[in-house]
Amino acid sequence: MYDIGIINGKVYIDGKYNKVNIYIEDETISLISKDLLEAKTIYDCKNDLVIPGIIDPHTHFELDLKTTSSKDDFYTGSISAIYGGVTTIIDFIDPVDNALDLEANLNKRINQAKKSLVDFKFHACLKNPKGNIEEIVKKMKDLNLSTVKIFTTYSDSLRRTYDKEIKELLTYSKTNNFLVTAHIEDDEQIKIPNTFVPSDINVSRPSSSETDEAIKIAKMVQETNGNLYMVHLSSGNTIKKLVNDFPKIINKNFKIESCPHYFLFNNSKYKKQNNYLYLMAPPLRSKKEQNTLKKHIDYIDTIGTDHCPFNSDEKNQKLLKDIPFGIGGVEHSFDVMYSIFKEAIIDKMTLNVARTHNLYPKKGIIKEGSDADIFIYKLKKKKITEDHSQANYTVYQNTNVLGEVITTLVRGKFVLKDKVLFNNVGKYINEVK
Ligand SMILES: [Zn+2]
Repeated sequence: MYDIGIINGKVYIDGKYNKVNIYIEDETISLISKDLLEAKTIYDCKNDLVIPGIIDPHTHFELDLKTTSSKDDFYTGSISAIYGGVTTIIDFIDPVDNALDLEANLNKRINQAKKSLVDFKFHACLKNPKGNIEEIVKKMKDLNLSTVKIFTTYSDSLRRTYDKEIKELLTYSKTNNFLVTAHIEDDEQIKIPNTFVPSDINVSRPSSSETDEAIKIAKMVQETNGNLYMVHLSSGNTIKKLVNDFPKIINKNFKIESCPHYFLFNNSKYKKQNNYLYLMAPPLRSKKEQNTLKKHIDYIDTIGTDHCPFNSDEKNQKLLKDIPFGIGGVEHSFDVMYSIFKEAIIDKMTLNVARTHNLYPKKGIIKEGSDADIFIYKLKKKKITEDHSQANYTVYQNTNVLGEVITTLVRGKFVLKDKVLFNNVGKYINEVK
């Protein structure tokens, strides 16, 4: 007898809904069948949607900024995730410039994440690694890390990795089969003088700073034939230019992630009094760019939230330089993106993420033998009114959406069942062997 039967649902497999039942044994999907079979627990979906658990490849739980830290730790952040149908997150280790610190920081993060209710994995992260690339690459291999994040900006906080090292990393990424994950903004175009206030954000971080740097990096990818993943693409101009000028590499060895907030909002928010609540890097762009981004959705490989919330009082500062950048979103990404793009968004939040970040076929798909990471989505027009993040506000409050997550299973365990939360122990998911 099976442990769990998920019956009478519309199950998302291979890009369409199927009227099949899912039978789970222990942590995995054991059988997908049209037959009605016996199981210890039967969950009747009553024709709701059954979708693979969302994988959020970009969260910042327990991010230490010295003066403050992001408001969700791995416990509260993962609760918020569960309410959004998210069953796996990929977070970051603190940036390092040498191999020794890489291992120490990874262990520190794994330790912090032990209280997570969802499964988790980490991107390695660098700050100006200079001559240490080779030993870092070696260490990544030892630690089974398949991605490494770099910043092309933040030279003021010494986190910038320079072109020579980026090129070196890209060259290694091909031979050693890893992914260079990049925050792409031209450091020289970014300025935050002491006089800038929140409404100056688009002057401080212009959209050209992203577009120009992305072109430069794309050329490097072409030259080295390396593997790159651009995080949080914000600008319609950037995606348009990349698609036009680099068709041979875009969505192949130059993958692109964007975030829900760039699709839902534009920089008219910065004209309002509460503009500080919408500050993140890169910032929201013009309405025109927002529309261009939406039109290019087919060229966005994955959706990540960049979940990094702060309280409204921390963000409510007069000067731009004093404001912690980042917003929450892990709980609302599917609601928001599904409401804009319907079924076209599902693979970008499940299958594509699993494939890109070395989690396939364990994660990202409803398939016999895969982890039983599943959520049930009830279609009904509503406004977002709930938020389980520890931050005291969400930019998504009152957003119109088409449904809600009512049940979430992580590796065969109901962690949310008909909107009732149960505790769970998330697992450190390293590479798929
Ligand atoms: Zn981020």
